Amino acid sequence: MRDVQINLGNRSYSIFIGQGVLDAAGTLLTGLPTGRKALLVTNPTVARLYADRVTAALTRAGIDVVRALIPDGEQYKALQSAEMLYDRAFAAGLDRGCPVVALGGGVVGDLAGFVAATYMRGVPFVQIPTTLLAQVDSSVGGKVAVNHPRGKNIIGAFYQPVLVLSDTGTLRTLGAGEVRSGLAEVIKYGIIKDAAFFTWLENNLDHVLALEPAALAHVIEQSCLSKARVVEEDETEQGQRAILNLGHTVGHAIEALAGYGRYSHGEAVAIGTAVAARLAVDLGLLQENEEHRIRNLLARAGLPLEVPGDISTDAVMAAMYGDKKTRAGQITFILPAAIGRAVIRPGMAEEPIARAIDNCRA
Ligand code: NAD
Ligand code: MG
Repeated sequence: MRDVQINLGNRSYSIFIGQGVLDAAGTLLTGLPTGRKALLVTNPTVARLYADRVTAALTRAGIDVVRALIPDGEQYKALQSAEMLYDRAFAAGLDRGCPVVALGGGVVGDLAGFVAATYMRGVPFVQIPTTLLAQVDSSVGGKVAVNHPRGKNIIGAFYQPVLVLSDTGTLRTLGAGEVRSGLAEVIKYGIIKDAAFFTWLENNLDHVLALEPAALAHVIEQSCLSKARVVEEDETEQGQRAILNLGHTVGHAIEALAGYGRYSHGEAVAIGTAVAARLAVDLGLLQENEEHRIRNLLARAGLPLEVPGDISTDAVMAAMYGDKKTRAGQITFILPAAIGRAVIRPGMAEEPIARAIDNCRA
C-alpha cells in the first residue's frame, strides 16, 4: 500500500493506493476523529460490485453504514440528488462528526463531496474513487460540485477530504473507454510537471493498459503527487493551478460541439493536447521531437489526436471565445514548453490557435 501525503496545513490528508485498500476502509477511518455512523453514497453500478465490501470493512470497525444510492449518470450530479442525500442524512440522524463516504467515479465523488461540504456546514468527507479518472484527478484537489442547467460544476466549493482510498483492483471492472479517458489526464501530468514520469509512461504503457496492479499504483501515485504539488501551491486556482487545464480549452469546446457522449472527456482532452502541442511548436516554445513524443504516447493509449471533420475551426473558436460580437479576442492558453513543463499564456490571439486547429485535422 502506498501513501501519498497532501500538505494543506490543517486540511492535510493521506491518499492510500493499492490492491485491496477498500477492505481497510474501517481501520483507516477509525484512526481519524470521526463519528460512528457514515453515509455511504454510491450508484447501482458500483454498489453491485463494491458496496458490500466497503460496508463490511466499515462495520467491522464499528461504524454504522447508511447506504444512499444515486442513479448512474452525469445528469444526477445535481441539486435534486444533493437534496435527496440531505434528507437521507437527517432521517438517519447523522450529526456534524459523521463522515460522508463517496464510493464511485467522479460523479459520485463530486456530488457526495458537495453534500459533505454543505450538510450542517461541513462534515468529514472520505473518497473511495473507483474509476481511473477519479483516482488520478477528481479525488485530488478538493473541488466538489453539482451541475446546474446553466453549466457544469458551477455550484460548488473547495472542500478537502480527510481520507482517500484508491483501490487499483476496482479498475478491472471498468470499460476500456473509461481507462483511456483517465489516461489522457495521466499523460497530461507527465507533460505539465514530470518529465521522468512521462518517460516512465513511454516505457511502461503496456503494463498500465494490462491493468497490472504495480503499474497502476505507480500511475496513480505519480498523478496524485503531480496534481497535489500544483494544488498545494495554489489551492483555489488564483494562478499556477491553471496548468492543469492543458488540453482542456479546446477539449471542452470539442466535447460540447460533438455533443456530450460522442467523445469522452479524456478523448476530447487528448485532441486539445495535440492542438496545444502544435501551437507550442508554431510559437517556437516546444521542440518538434517533443511534440512527436506527446502525440505518440496519446495514440498508443488509444486516444484520438485529430479535430473531427464535421466540426469547423470557426465553431471551435466561437465555443472558446464566446459570441463573435462579445469576443475580447484574447484567452488564456496552457502550452507545453517542454515535456515536464507547461506555461500559462494569457492574451493568446485567435489567429495562431485557429492555424494549429487546422493543422490537427486528418
Ligand atoms: P463517472 O463517475 O460517471 O463514472 C463512469 C462510469 O463508470 C459510470 O457509469 C460509473 O457508474 C461506472 N463505474 C465507476 N466505477 C466503476 C468500476 N470500478 N467498475 C465498473 N464501472 C464503474 O465518470 P468519471 O469519469 O469517473 O468522472 C467524471 C466526473 O468527474 C464529471 O462529472 C467531472 O465533472 C468530474 N471531475 C471532477 C474533477 C474535480 O476536480 N472535482 C476533476 C475531473 C473530473
Ligand atoms: Mg479533465
